[in-house]
Amino acid sequence: MLPGIGTKTAQRLAFYLISQPEERVEKLARSMTEARKNVRYCKTCCTLTDSEECPICADRKRDHSQIMVVETPGDLAAYEKTGKYAGVYHVLHGAISPMLGVGPDDIRLKELMRRLEGDIKEVIVATNSSLEGETTAMYISKLIKPVGIPVTRIASGVPVGGDLENIDEVTLLRALDGRTQL
Ligand code: ZN
Repeated sequence: MLPGIGTKTAQRLAFYLISQPEERVEKLARSMTEARKNVRYCKTCCTLTDSEECPICADRKRDHSQIMVVETPGDLAAYEKTGKYAGVYHVLHGAISPMLGVGPDDIRLKELMRRLEGDIKEVIVATNSSLEGETTAMYISKLIKPVGIPVTRIASGVPVGGDLENIDEVTLLRALDGRTQL
């Protein structure tokens, strides 16, 4: 049932687990159920965390007037790893896809709009450069325009169809530095 694991790998993992001491397997099972139980959405940026507000949103040293919008917590982690972005994030948990029946109400856009009532100076749209990511970027730009907050889009350099998670840090930083007004 796990993503990216085929029958052969599943079988190898199962045999490995069976060969391990019982306590070890129990510990693994426990940490999996604990993680599932304790992980929730940050009340501000909607990323996954184990507290009410994630460590990034709770960090007063970060620039809370700059919000980078990403599709997944994995994308957030990719930008965070560069260590060069001082603003905060907003995680949509998906992208608009008419083909897959994912509409604006199915991702965390309402939560983003609510945040814009505060003192926000820039919204950086860092969705993937796939059809869904671009559709979402255009939608967000149209949605925010009447509010009067500048919306920027990360530059290309991120390959078309590329998932942010799999792109190296230099490319990510170049894309962030070269962002343009939407
Ligand atoms: Zn947060």
